[in-house]
Amino acid sequence: MNNSNKIIIAIDGYSSTGKSTLAKHLAKELGYVYVDTGAMYRAVAYYAMKQGLIDENHFDKEGLISDLNKIDLNLQFNAKLGYAEIFLNGENVESFIRSIEVSNMVSKVASISEIREKLVEQQQKMSLDKGIVMDGRDIGTVVFPEAELKLFMTASAENRAQRRFKEMTDNGVQIQYETVLENVTSRDHLDTTRDDSPLVKADDAIEIDNSDMNVDQTFEVAMRYVKERLNS
Ligand code: C5P
Repeated sequence: MNNSNKIIIAIDGYSSTGKSTLAKHLAKELGYVYVDTGAMYRAVAYYAMKQGLIDENHFDKEGLISDLNKIDLNLQFNAKLGYAEIFLNGENVESFIRSIEVSNMVSKVASISEIREKLVEQQQKMSLDKGIVMDGRDIGTVVFPEAELKLFMTASAENRAQRRFKEMTDNGVQIQYETVLENVTSRDHLDTTRDDSPLVKADDAIEIDNSDMNVDQTFEVAMRYVKERLNS
């Protein structure tokens, strides 16, 4: 690919629509940087849980906001894995942030404007050289409204829960399908109804419903749009 022609690719959409799998694949194919913004919100949620600022029954929002300057997030590329891992105050927290416990807290944490402001600022700074694929919920609407290509991923809730359930059980996690479905639907609800930067399709985003597509088919469809943009 021609380097002078690098673009920003924003991928938004519902939980477990395969956004990060697609984003990683595109970044690899294009030689771009991949940024998983969900990991950043998850790391903040993990911090809040460790500090006892949030659990199922309470959320000390003010406490978390006043701790924001103590939260340092850093993405470090791991050549072996082929993507960047997230570090919270110097500790690699990749293996902790995908748990169902963090998944159940993260959307509450992500609804706080002060947190979004800090993370969005950090995300925007990563685009200086273009050549970036970023996935999340507000990338095409808030983080990079000028992105050259915006994809919006959807799939049925059952389909998404089934995929996430398989991924977790394949990784040895003991969990019920219903628990995963409940998490997926409740995160969708919180993410689409929050006041600050709710999940919404940008007017100029291309919607991809991959309910009936596998990973490779989703990649092929997305790659067609990428080529169109690069050649336009
Ligand atoms: O992408 P992932 O499912 O890991 O994101 C976890 C949660 O982080 C989402 O459900 C959402 O609440 C929040 N998030 C967000 N904005 C982003 C990325 C993630 O609010 N850009």
